[in-house]
Amino acid sequence: MKKVCVKNIIFDLGNTLIYYDYEYFYEGVSRLEKKLNTGKLKSFIKEKNLGNKLCKGTLQPKDFFRILKRKFDLKIGYDDFIYLYSDIFWVNTRMKNFLEKIVNIKRFKVFLLSNTDPVHMNFVNKNFPFIKIIKNKVLSYKVGLLKPQKKIFEYIVKKYNLNKNETVLIDDLPVNIKVAVKYGLHGIKYTTHKKFLSEFTRIARK
Ligand SMILES: [Mg+2]
Repeated sequence: MKKVCVKNIIFDLGNTLIYYDYEYFYEGVSRLEKKLNTGKLKSFIKEKNLGNKLCKGTLQPKDFFRILKRKFDLKIGYDDFIYLYSDIFWVNTRMKNFLEKIVNIKRFKVFLLSNTDPVHMNFVNKNFPFIKIIKNKVLSYKVGLLKPQKKIFEYIVKKYNLNKNETVLIDDLPVNIKVAVKYGLHGIKYTTHKKFLSEFTRIARK
């Protein structure tokens, strides 16, 4: 068997480095909009695929707000809306510690590969500054591609001239891992931190 030597670590953002839950957004909006049916808001966003469009950069945050404001007759302003939409994250402390440790090990290079949108990224940079340790990033809304498209994995490999066999993706979504592994990267599905650490140690061992 060929010896693996992982040098490049690609991190997913949501539910890997930081956790998130859109319920905070829906709860927040319903606190301010008493007449709103949040179930309908939720299914509308899902049906119209608005989240993915934001992440792909084909829908701008202002238009996202305008569409919902019109459809649900919202009274809140754009800034409050965006704040509620963004304030859905909390840190994964163990992963933060892991990242802060790993960046100081010369052998490793770290990358961020995230399906995200400009308002979430802005919020994350402000409120979770440790993310900024990662200088090399591919963000979906900037490149117009989404995981698990094979093209986004090709994009990051090409952009940073990575050797696929030296590269591991850490991501909570099985489908992202599946496509990345099929493409030739190593993959670790992030579930519990303990499992992650033992997988990482196994893959990254010299
Ligand atoms: Mg994720």
